[in-house]
Amino acid sequence: MKESLLDKSYEEIKKIVNDLGEKSYRAEQLYSAINSGLDIAEITTISAGLKCKLLEIYDGQPVTIKTSVKSKDGTEKFLFLLRDGNMIEGVLMRYTYGNTLCVSTQVGCRMNCAFCASGLSGLIRDLSAGEMLGEVVSVNRYLGGGLGEKRLITNVVLMGSGEPLDNYEQVVRFIRIMSDEAAGGISQRAITVSTCGLIPMIDRFGDDFPQVNLAISLHAADSKERSEIMPVNKAYPLDELIDACRRYTEKTGRRITFEYTLINGVNDDRAHLDKLSTLLKGMLCHVNLIPLNEVKEKSYRAGSRERAEEFKEALEKRGIPATVRRELGSDIDAACGQLRVETQNTNT
Ligand code: SAH
Repeated sequence: MKESLLDKSYEEIKKIVNDLGEKSYRAEQLYSAINSGLDIAEITTISAGLKCKLLEIYDGQPVTIKTSVKSKDGTEKFLFLLRDGNMIEGVLMRYTYGNTLCVSTQVGCRMNCAFCASGLSGLIRDLSAGEMLGEVVSVNRYLGGGLGEKRLITNVVLMGSGEPLDNYEQVVRFIRIMSDEAAGGISQRAITVSTCGLIPMIDRFGDDFPQVNLAISLHAADSKERSEIMPVNKAYPLDELIDACRRYTEKTGRRITFEYTLINGVNDDRAHLDKLSTLLKGMLCHVNLIPLNEVKEKSYRAGSRERAEEFKEALEKRGIPATVRRELGSDIDAACGQLRVETQNTNT
């Protein structure tokens, strides 16, 4: 398969253009055209000769939108097709301050969290940086957006299928190109990386990207219980994870978001609440309570909205800022991996 130009940084594009005997200013035109979602053949700012040479070696856009489903609340879920036939998902959430796209970082996932659809068939493969960018630029284009002022995706969260810190090199490249003013143009403060807790990579991430937001999938405040729903906890236990989070906040001065998916009868009673507030007391953090999005293949059930609100209020009373995630797009199976699983099931 050909490489995609969307995987390339500006410096790399410049070298490609120079090696093909063209002037450097062509690199700017090519770089912005590719990052605004155009395929090589569609670009009008470069010569037909250069396009021919490029087409022999490179692919333009590595991702196309196969289908999309819109929820009553405006949330839109995308099924993306990759060049090798694999499919991944993205979710567009519309807020008053802008549009947030939730992107996938791997096809499948090997973390195997008990309540999540992404891990159902294990890890198929990592996504390249260009494929992650492809999710963003294709949706931006679909919305009628462009580059710079015309950009319509304003925030990016790496919370689709996959574990971003298990595909670190490509995620780094993605964030660098995404936050480059001449390409994605999304400031690092508008990007959030979510992890199930790969400790060595959290340390590295804090050094490499002190401006990017970090979210930690906690889901339990007791190590034994966490291991039951998140196998990663056996390799990187809760107390060590919390130490890594403290190192991160000290180093960066940034607030961590802890994601806590409320699962009926598993992690949502009074004792869990007490443990959670004791664990996080005094930390520079915020808790995002997520009502479980039920996955057909799994037996876990969601609790009531009232229970989530009670949890939030109790945490706040104890000095821990908390929010309940708006249930965006629950009518369209918006949780990780669910649309892909559905489509595969109807295709087979
Ligand atoms: N691998 C990363 C990104 C995962 S998706 C991570 O673990 O953080 C983003 C969040 O959605 C994670 O907190 C994940 O645990 C949660 N999640 C996965 N499946 C879910 C479901 N069915 N309902 C609610 N939250 C879910």
